[in-house]
Amino acid sequence: MTQTSSPIVPQPGIMKIALYEGGASKLAGVENVVKLSSNENPFGPSEKAREAVIRAAHALHRYPNTDHAGLRAAIAEVHGLDPDRIICGVGSDEIIHFLCQAYAGPETEVLFTEHGFLMYRISAHAAGATPVQVRERDRVTDIDALIAGATERTRLIFVANPNNPTGTMVGLPELERLARAVPQAILVIDAAYCEYVGDYDGGAELATRLPNVFMTRTFSKIYGLGGLRVGWGYGAREIVDVLNRIRGPFNLSHVALEGAEAAVQDRDHVARCQAENARLRAWLAEALAEKGVPSDTSCANFVLARFADQDTAVACDEALKSQGLIVRRVAGYGLPNCLRVTVGDEASCRRVAHVIGQFMAERAGTS
Ligand SMILES: *Cc1c(COP(=O)(O)O)cnc(C)c1O
Repeated sequence: MTQTSSPIVPQPGIMKIALYEGGASKLAGVENVVKLSSNENPFGPSEKAREAVIRAAHALHRYPNTDHAGLRAAIAEVHGLDPDRIICGVGSDEIIHFLCQAYAGPETEVLFTEHGFLMYRISAHAAGATPVQVRERDRVTDIDALIAGATERTRLIFVANPNNPTGTMVGLPELERLARAVPQAILVIDAAYCEYVGDYDGGAELATRLPNVFMTRTFSKIYGLGGLRVGWGYGAREIVDVLNRIRGPFNLSHVALEGAEAAVQDRDHVARCQAENARLRAWLAEALAEKGVPSDTSCANFVLARFADQDTAVACDEALKSQGLIVRRVAGYGLPNCLRVTVGDEASCRRVAHVIGQFMAERAGTS
């Protein structure tokens, strides 16, 4: 693969990693850009989290604590979990990375679905493991396909539930069936969008009961703290103990720890954001459907808008950009005819629906 004869080469798998592209946030020559490309909370974080971050600035000369005891206790209290079974990371991305580093490697496989989150493939390659992807059924995780895709080399199975970018999810009994069918692997339930579902524990109870189920969560979505980089994982003590051995002792800054602790305690903020998202998500999906753009029922804070073909999706994306609206193209997720639109505040939802409506009307007129 390499053209040079340099003796300096990275580990196998590293050069197979395609660089992750974050959602765009700027458009040349356009002011007043509305960013709906990274599933961020349009209402931002809790005021209490902001205040905690500012207070934490007084201790910037100090190393943070290494055991995250305060944050783990706060998470455990709010979610009714055992703090000793929680590990905190630099976003849930770092937890995904730890899992691959600790449990996968050369000669092993990491399993996920065709429209699964891109970090699973990246982290599997980084560990030198073989990423294996199975089909979904109409953009929904197919448990039978995952069971059929597992081998004796499978070490990890990643299921985002709800999934990004599809917004769909499967029931917990189905996930339990998968975990029981593949006892040689850890089933990782990535519950980044858990709070947007309503009446869903993200797999916490399953991860309490089964030794091979592990749940990941994040402060980047409903908590509105994507910039702070905090996530966490929960599961068997044995797994948490393994992951802690490769976790850097100072992986989370004092600022991040304090901000996240205040955020998790502000349950009212989470409830308000959840209610507002549910209302606007339904409104947006219906408005788009009326304009001839269908989507699957989303359980998250975005809608996956489906167009007739890739050309139409690309042209619609261009029309949105020309009006200062940035959404996410998802061809890299195997969905070239779709655009993922984050549910923003009411004004953003109205703007997006309006521009897509205009685009569809013009398209119909010229065809
Ligand atoms: C956004 C997202 C995450 C969160 O990543 P962080 O590193 O915690 O910011 C995890 N999984 C999925 C599927 C996501 O969409």
